[in-house]
Amino acid sequence: MSSFVSSEFVPFDQIAPTAREGGAPGPGTRGTVVVFAGQDVALGGASTHFLEAALGTVKDAAAIARFKGKSATVLDLIAPAGVAADRLLVVGLHAEKPQPNAFLTLGGFVMGKLKQAAPVTVIFDVPDASNEQAADFMLGLKLRAYRFDRYKTKKKDDGEGEAPVSVRIAVADVGGAQLAGGRRDALSEGVDFARTLVNEPPNVLFPVEFARRVTELQKLGVDVEVLDEAALEKIGMRALVAVGQGAEHQSRVAIMRWNGAADADAKPIAFVGKGVCFDSGGISIKPAAGMEDMKGDMAGAACVAGLMHALAARNAKVNVVAAIGLVENMPDGNAQRPGDIVTSLSGQTIEIINTDAEGRLVLADLLWYVQDKYKPVFMIDLATLTGAIIVALAHEYAGLFSNNDELSERLFAAGTQTGEKVWRLPVGPAYDKLIDSKFADVKNTGGRHGGSITAAQFLQRFVNDTPWAHLDIAGTGMGSPHDETNQSWGSGWGVRLLDRLVADHYE
Ligand code: MN
Ligand code: ZN
Repeated sequence: MSSFVSSEFVPFDQIAPTAREGGAPGPGTRGTVVVFAGQDVALGGASTHFLEAALGTVKDAAAIARFKGKSATVLDLIAPAGVAADRLLVVGLHAEKPQPNAFLTLGGFVMGKLKQAAPVTVIFDVPDASNEQAADFMLGLKLRAYRFDRYKTKKKDDGEGEAPVSVRIAVADVGGAQLAGGRRDALSEGVDFARTLVNEPPNVLFPVEFARRVTELQKLGVDVEVLDEAALEKIGMRALVAVGQGAEHQSRVAIMRWNGAADADAKPIAFVGKGVCFDSGGISIKPAAGMEDMKGDMAGAACVAGLMHALAARNAKVNVVAAIGLVENMPDGNAQRPGDIVTSLSGQTIEIINTDAEGRLVLADLLWYVQDKYKPVFMIDLATLTGAIIVALAHEYAGLFSNNDELSERLFAAGTQTGEKVWRLPVGPAYDKLIDSKFADVKNTGGRHGGSITAAQFLQRFVNDTPWAHLDIAGTGMGSPHDETNQSWGSGWGVRLLDRLVADHYE
């Protein structure tokens, strides 16, 4: 359960009498009631019943405020006469063009209006709304409520964040909503897990600590194996180890396995994450401005860990293997140099042109390892890989690169459904000449033009024939603009997208 919101679904008939007979020992104890209104402030039956004598007051207030029930608008009434609530929110629903994830957004919107810890009752009598949509609404509430304030020692004086907000959601079909809500609870936990990993400072969340937090997933039944540097050397992951060789903090790889399919031997699907816990750029050091954001250069690995949390918590009927590469990229006497040539696990040699193009070195060894060892149905990697993807797509879409049309189309569809959108960009042999090296098999940068594409083209050399997709999340995994369901710097982007992909096609 989310530590920011405690929620339960209840039947409509529990609401009206409780709210009315609850008495009023003093202001603040009766809490907030939320009702929904369609076009021209049309109310559902349960809301009408609850408001009863106060209907005229609400209609008058709506007219004065010119509230017409449009989506993303709200009529906010404090202590309205005749209503058994300290505060009544009438939330607009009417949209000319309904969005696929409208109820998720609605939940976020409503939570954005709530804040203080007073109890909340939502009368969810939305015409034609399914149990899935009621559950999406609840998920939206929870995602919006996430906070990362563990390093703030002074509390706010408006009561925000003191205790979890307790929300009752009254629905027509409690059992159905609870069933749909269970999967959403797993998702909100997974997203919050990912967000916190991204938000943690790099002096706290270094590779060994990241790996330790991932081992906590064992409680959910995830099998976790952590490989230390000696093990990585022995396997031959020289490209990955070389990235961390200038850091005091040791590198780690964590392999997570979830076997939920009816056939325990069914081929797994695979996820791979870039986990550069801090990226200074190494010897090719970055400029100082904004370098603090490079604590988030592990957002790909955080998403993969959050996804494993979500899949395990909801008992997904699928076999999954996930590999995350955890390193710190630092300048030091032992750091790798531009001009170095490393031999990757695949046997291909890589000339280091720029030590700041380190994520693809981590991924190269992981992708090769996963396809060779586990023979997965597909591999999807997530990485805050290039600034160039923000130049191309801003913060709206993640870049999608793939050698497989079916996988790409499925990802695109899941993106539309969840609002975690992906946009496909090309890879192909024409780009190979940009990364061919004078001295080795490949070089680790392809110059300024098509920087996200040449990074993906580099990765493709390490996937063999496995169906593969690469998601460049540099613009979406951290520092993305806040929206109705995310107010956190680390967004947890991708957990909901990939959970949907799995649920729709691989269970
Ligand atoms: Mn870098
Ligand atoms: Zn990086």
